Amino acid sequence: MSTLGERAVNVVGAGLAGALLALLLARRGLEVRLYERRADPRQSTPERGRSINLALAARGLRALERAGVMERVRPLLIAMRGRMVHSLTGATALQPYGQREHEVIWSVGRADLNRVLIEAAAAHARVSVRFNQQCLGADVRCGRLRLRTLPDGDSSEVALAPTIATDGAGSAVRASLAAAGLLAAREEWLDHDYKELTIAAARGGALERHALHIWPRGGFMLIALPNTDGSFTATLFLARHGPQGFAALDSPTAVTKFFAREFADTLPLLPDLAAQFAAHPQGQLGTVHTDPWHVGGEVLLLGDAAHAIVPFHGQGMNAAFEDCVVLDELLDSYRDWQSLFAQFERVRRPNAAAIARMALENYTEMRDAVLDARFLRHKALAMGLERRFPQRFIPRYSMVMFHPEISYAEALRRGAVQAQLLAELDTGSEAEPDPALAAKLIEERLPPLG
Ligand SMILES: Cc1cc2nc3c(=O)[nH]c(=O)nc-3n(C[C@H](O)[C@H](O)[C@H](O)COP(=O)(O)OP(=O)(O)OC[C@H]3O[C@@H](n4cnc5c(N)ncnc54)[C@H](O)[C@@H]3O)c2cc1C
Repeated sequence: MSTLGERAVNVVGAGLAGALLALLLARRGLEVRLYERRADPRQSTPERGRSINLALAARGLRALERAGVMERVRPLLIAMRGRMVHSLTGATALQPYGQREHEVIWSVGRADLNRVLIEAAAAHARVSVRFNQQCLGADVRCGRLRLRTLPDGDSSEVALAPTIATDGAGSAVRASLAAAGLLAAREEWLDHDYKELTIAAARGGALERHALHIWPRGGFMLIALPNTDGSFTATLFLARHGPQGFAALDSPTAVTKFFAREFADTLPLLPDLAAQFAAHPQGQLGTVHTDPWHVGGEVLLLGDAAHAIVPFHGQGMNAAFEDCVVLDELLDSYRDWQSLFAQFERVRRPNAAAIARMALENYTEMRDAVLDARFLRHKALAMGLERRFPQRFIPRYSMVMFHPEISYAEALRRGAVQAQLLAELDTGSEAEPDPALAAKLIEERLPPLG
């Protein structure tokens, strides 16, 4: 059984989780070798085709604070106080995310955040970062991690144990372990894809900067998040096939007509809509289920490599960062990699399953429910109950986004109880429910939070 600190740790993938994890492990006194397929982002322009900006919330912030990088991250953040809902008529309404000053989420550019994390990791004496290193897989039988230098293709191998794979949703390490029969991996693809479009800074001034914009249209939606340069990144989420799907948007005319019908107020913001639409990739969305996440004390999958989720709760990165915090905290109690990896999986698996489910549910909420009168009544009622019973009732969205002390699994559990309670208290109109009944039900069903 290999003891912590006996050998350098391989971290595969210097994305969001890998770079942060390398830094946290190094701060613990461990030697880290961080392998990344891409070129050094400090010397090259970022790859296109991934989400350009992300919503960062309390779980992610807590991880960044723990790693001591908040000072460098803060200038990259833009507060988003709520959802700015754009209706078909062009009318807008802000639905605040929370009800306290600090209950906001933050838009952050993926490339900028990743660069800061890589810089911080690389500056640490115990981290060596190797770029242009594509991992080909883990060979557990021979105890080797296989790599290839890009672009010329020289192959090399290093000792496998211990390796932490943070190589993302398409993890090569996961694929190699699955091919060797050491774990089972299943990718559950959504039948909706996404495409990103840029609203240039010159036009972005027309949109409220401190909001996440959303054009909910029933079976599909458009969203837009602000960037620090005044531009916005818009993302269209739409079925792959069918008359209301990407497949039907097969010409500049079809694209322009679709936007004119569904998102007319965005046309002045996207003068080059058809050209962008043709040039930008169409991305797939899915949930990754892996079992187990580790092979003895040799390899552990973490972040998207273990449990990628759909992006509708804005939590994939936040969950991956929380993984890093949990692993870091467990280093206090475990002296060997096998027990550490096993305990990490025990703690995180129920939470990963919970956020995967809530992320899928949130797609329906975002594209359909935010315009629904019942949804809005329940939201107002939930906010009122939170004000009255702050120790017992916190809206599920707030538990996930603003309360890292409440686990995802607990948020899912309490959220189900609360949804039932809201249904029972809903008067079907603006009228307040009976306050005595509300107090009784809450005290019976929702124990105070720790
Ligand atoms: C459209 C979209 C919107 C999203 N919005 C949000 C959001 O608002 N909020 C949020 O919290 N999350 C969001 N996410 C999810 C978020 O992007 C991921 O959960 C997060 O990036 C996971 O981090 P990671 O480090 O596990 O993987 P990644 O960030 O994907 O990093 C993986 C790294 O591994 C490298 N790599 C891959 N293969 C190899 C290999 N074979 N060898 C070596 N290196 C390799 C990659 O180059 C990359 O650097 C969104 C995702 C999508 C697709």
